[in-house]
Amino acid sequence: MTPRDVAADAIALAKPVDDVPTGSLAALRRAAKDCRRCPLWRPATQTVFGAGRARARIMLIGEQPGAQEDLAGAPFVGPAGSLLRELLGAAQIPVDAVYMTNTVKHFKFQPRGKRRLHVRANAAEQAACRPWLAAELLRVRRKSPSHSARWPRGHCSATRSA
Ligand code: SF4
Repeated sequence: MTPRDVAADAIALAKPVDDVPTGSLAALRRAAKDCRRCPLWRPATQTVFGAGRARARIMLIGEQPGAQEDLAGAPFVGPAGSLLRELLGAAQIPVDAVYMTNTVKHFKFQPRGKRRLHVRANAAEQAACRPWLAAELLRVRRKSPSHSARWPRGHCSATRSA
């Protein structure tokens, strides 16, 4: 991978990333398990890396995992994930055509009694996690030339193959 490749593939990210991890999605997933780039790993249950195939035609990017994703270790498995699957079904898009991930891979929360209330990752935490997203974009996009589309602000963005 040349710097030109990285630059081209970084277009989908709002900010540049210098150190993009390399390897297959499986290797990236294994490496992200032990990530300590920011403090969010400490109270979280586990890393919630992206799910799906490198040849996925669509990439959905959420903000960060929630409590259910944290326990399951998979993205989009909570109520929003159920709604998303319903919508994909209604649009006749097979779930395996979609790669799902988040910009931040650990659940950030504030304990409130027995509940864990979602807290938005700050700018430093988002920046620390950006290399993982860049790596996912590289792996998924390099398998199939793609164009990207942005969903309503605050929800998620999508990258779809042409
Ligand atoms: S949130 Fe991202 S950068 Fe921070 S520890 Fe988890 S995987 Fe690493």
